[in-house]
Parts: sequence; C-alpha cells; structure tokens
Amino acid sequence: MTRKFTDNKLVIASHNPGKIREIGDLLKPYHIDVVSGPSFGFSEPDETEETFVGNAYIKSRYFVEKTRLPSLSDDSGLAVDALDGAPGIYSARWAGEAKDFRAASARIQAELIGKTGTDQGHRAHFVCALSLCWPDGEHVEFEGKVFGTLVFPARGRSGFGYDPIFVPDGYGVTFGEMHPDEKHRISHRADAFRQLIQACFT
Ligand code: IMP
Repeated sequence: MTRKFTDNKLVIASHNPGKIREIGDLLKPYHIDVVSGPSFGFSEPDETEETFVGNAYIKSRYFVEKTRLPSLSDDSGLAVDALDGAPGIYSARWAGEAKDFRAASARIQAELIGKTGTDQGHRAHFVCALSLCWPDGEHVEFEGKVFGTLVFPARGRSGFGYDPIFVPDGYGVTFGEMHPDEKHRISHRADAFRQLIQACFT
C-alpha cells in the first residue's frame, strides 16, 4: 500500500504561480498548509531528465533536501501529436525567460503549418506528473492526462500557459474560456491529483 500523507505542511516545488494556485485549490479539502518552495528562497533545480515523471522527481527531491519538509512537485506540459509530442517536457522552455506563452503558442502554430500545411484540427494532450517525496527519501509518482484539439487563434483569458489554444474533448470552449472550477475537474492535473489523493490522502 502507498504511504499515507500524515503531515500538515507540504512544500510545493514550483515557482509557477498558476500551478501553486491550482494545487492549493485542489488540496483545500485536506486542510494542509501549502507553502511554495521558492518562498524559502531556493531557486529551482535544472530539469535534466527526459520524462515528466523524471523531472518531477528531480524537483520534489531537491526541495526535500533543502527544506527537510515533504515536497510535492508537478512537471507538466503540452504534447502535440503532429509535432511528435513537442513541446512536451520543453513546454515551459518554449516560452523562454519572459514566459511568453503567446510566442510559444505561435511557435506551435507555425510548426504545425510548416509540417502539415494547416493549424486546424490537431490533436494534443496535456500531461501532469506529480512527485511526492518525504524527508526520509521515500517518494511516489503519478501521471495524469487530458486529451483535446488545438485551436488558433487563441481564445480566453482564464488559466495560464497553453490554456487558450486547447479545447478538451467533449467541450466547445478552450481551457482559457472555461471556468477554473470546470478546468480543475477535468484537467491533467485533476487526473493526477485524483490518483495522488486516493493513494496518499484517503
Ligand atoms: P514546468 O513548470 O516545467 O512543469 O512547465 C510546465 C509548462 O507546461 C507550463 O509552464 C505551461 O506552459 C504548460 N502547462 C502545464 N500545465 C498547463 C495547464 O494546465 N494549462 C496550460 N499550460 C500548462
């Protein structure tokens, strides 16, 4: 059986305010004090692995070593079928130092047109890998996904990152147009969190 989480404080191993907000919302029912790793003054480690799960574990282990508190990390991104899974683990890096997701989305659009001749109707999915690491070194990982289609031009101002170009299956609106509660219910992060909560929090 997976180890249960019995502490009352959890470090979130991320600088990304969008992610910290979403994780805080998802863990609200469990009355856990969620603190961001960067609030301790540590920067983030380099993501040198080739998989979402591998990079998630690098981050959770790093923040455990720094804070000696249990740490949860999320490594996530958008995989576009016609681009052989790109930007994938490079999703944040495509947006550059300036975290310019309009530019990153424009690059996806340009590469799709270059490769297939059209920017319409392309399949993609978001992936979210979670890694929970305890101070004694034990760790668990979970991976969630949500499938959908890309749309250009981008639509909506909600969410973050690539949300405005992604229409999840079964919906006519992008994540950027959807109410955050609805996104939290169906997203890749929600899928991974359901697995984490079932295994470690209930
Ligand atoms: P990470 O911080 O290295 O895990 O980078 C994840 C990147 O993937 C984010 O900066 C976003 O660009 C993208 N991403 C992950 N999850 C989402 C989401 O829920 N909506 C939109 N973009 C996302």
